[in-house]
Amino acid sequence: MRVSQMLFVTLREDPAEAEIPSHKLLLRAGYIRRIGSGVYAYLPLMWRVLKKVSQIVREEMDATGAQECLLPQLQPADLWRESGRWDTYTKAEGIMFALTDRQNREVGLGPTHEEVITTIAKDMVRSYRQLPLHLYQIQTKFRDEIRPRFGLMRGREFIMKDGYSFHSNEESLKKTYQDMAQAYSNMLRRSGLQFRAVDADSGAIGGSGSQEFMVLADAGEDEVLYTEDGQYAANVEKAVALPADAETSTFTTFEKRETPGSETIEKVCKFLKCSPTQIVKNVLYQAVYDSGITVLVLVSIRGDRDVNDVKLLNELTKLAGNYQAKAVLFLTVPDAEAQQKWAAKPLPLGYMAPDITDDCIAGSKEVNSKFLRLVDRTAIDLKNFVTGANESGYHVVGANWGKEFKLPEIAVDVNKAKKGDRAVHNPEQTLQSARGIEVGHIFQLGTEYSQPMGATYTNEQGEEMPLIMGCYGVGVSRLAQSAVEQSYDKDGIIWPVAIAPYHAIISIPNISDAQQVEVAEKLYAELNRSGIETMLDDRDERAGVKFKDADLIGIPYRIVTGRSLKQGKVEVVERATHKSQEIAIDEVCSTLKQWIENAVQ
Ligand code: ATP
Ligand code: MG
Repeated sequence: MRVSQMLFVTLREDPAEAEIPSHKLLLRAGYIRRIGSGVYAYLPLMWRVLKKVSQIVREEMDATGAQECLLPQLQPADLWRESGRWDTYTKAEGIMFALTDRQNREVGLGPTHEEVITTIAKDMVRSYRQLPLHLYQIQTKFRDEIRPRFGLMRGREFIMKDGYSFHSNEESLKKTYQDMAQAYSNMLRRSGLQFRAVDADSGAIGGSGSQEFMVLADAGEDEVLYTEDGQYAANVEKAVALPADAETSTFTTFEKRETPGSETIEKVCKFLKCSPTQIVKNVLYQAVYDSGITVLVLVSIRGDRDVNDVKLLNELTKLAGNYQAKAVLFLTVPDAEAQQKWAAKPLPLGYMAPDITDDCIAGSKEVNSKFLRLVDRTAIDLKNFVTGANESGYHVVGANWGKEFKLPEIAVDVNKAKKGDRAVHNPEQTLQSARGIEVGHIFQLGTEYSQPMGATYTNEQGEEMPLIMGCYGVGVSRLAQSAVEQSYDKDGIIWPVAIAPYHAIISIPNISDAQQVEVAEKLYAELNRSGIETMLDDRDERAGVKFKDADLIGIPYRIVTGRSLKQGKVEVVERATHKSQEIAIDEVCSTLKQWIENAVQ
């Protein structure tokens, strides 16, 4: 491609709208342009990158025997009502763009495609003989994200590869799941990324497993906890750990103590001169179930630990049946305004005990009249502990479960693991922390969708059984940007060769020099002919401008038809290292071919 004929607009300054390096660079280098909140145009250079990423994804998917298809983006609400997700997606999470058509029918723009694919399987798969089956697509998804940001990282319209597999038994699902884990590792390795596969939260669905593929970068929205021995890596949402041992409490007799101004754990510890590991902290949450019922949840947890909201949400979802519900719509820590709606009297916030009485709640049709009391495992074994006295300005010390306080019946693990905790598989290993960008997620779904939607097959014994499913997603556009987040310098982007929009760029320092132009044109034709994707910077610009632009857009190899032409050579500069060497004109093509081959695995 001739730069003079391209839509080629680069910016010298960082655009104000961008916060992280990859977003700034993609805007500055003219790869993307913001059209609206979370909505971007992929300009020609970006589109080439996206096509390359898609091609790698496609090759790895096809190699596993999966088949590509293309599913509709406009999806009837009825399908989502069958799976039970319409309300959660359009109202609770509100992630789905929903509209009413001119016939007054409700439709949504696909944020994901489980409903569509399950409907197809329901219609078309009859017998175990047709299984296993794996279909995938590469397509734009729509999600009305609460906080679209960081360019393509969290868009409201973005490209995803999503695949769905169908099986007659668990082993078959596990096999495909393993194949996908391998395929995903291959995709990321081939795209030139540093990544880690981690255990992930499977949400309320449970199921036997889910893994995320994290590209490691400081700007990542996710936290990954891992051990140096390589045996354990998990998203913090899912991570388990052994907390440090609790210190032995010195409060051997139970008594109430005045602790003025001690509404935080830190202040209580200071006042009572105790360790946070000797405290039972009681954290209040408010859950709104999809039956419309609000439940006040009191979580008792060891004072030095925090509640992992994702784990808590999963526990509350398991209990949904107790409240005539299927799902939790909202989970929050109720602020003063929220408390006004149900509090029968002011709560002793910061001084609550595990047994705070239910008469604090003004129960109603919408508000459950009793606290749902949960105890985290970290708090169960504590002896002679400190906790609130249900009265502002007072705590109790030397308390014990089974004596002064009844142990809540429901024991859970909602402990948020953190850096420095000991690993479960080997307590000598401590958890380390890293930031990651989630670019892929693979998931054993089981019968979560096939059951409610009635997607069944007939097994060898002639019985009708629900299809067992898996699903597998890659954020193609997020992956492309994460490559930039991992690879740039002060001059601009450094694309991994495998996904760079072009392999090489020929910069003509002076276009009024006939020899420079002639050699550049000759190389341009030769390189492109031999499969080396090459740009020709033939603009009437100063050499310095051209070199700066080439660095900014991150093309792996720059060829300069300059001074060394007199010796029959051109200068070739490697973008990543700025290393420059002079190469004989007729060896440029074979040399570059070799370099590219070495760089692309
Ligand atoms: P996240 O936790 O980041 O919101 P998710 O769990 O909602 O992601 P999935 O539903 O598993 O994502 O989607 C599969 C993949 O699609 C993700 O791993 C991610 O790479 C990509 N993806 C999801 N949401 C977005 C988005 N808003 N913009 C760009 N890519 C996205
Ligand atoms: Mg996910």
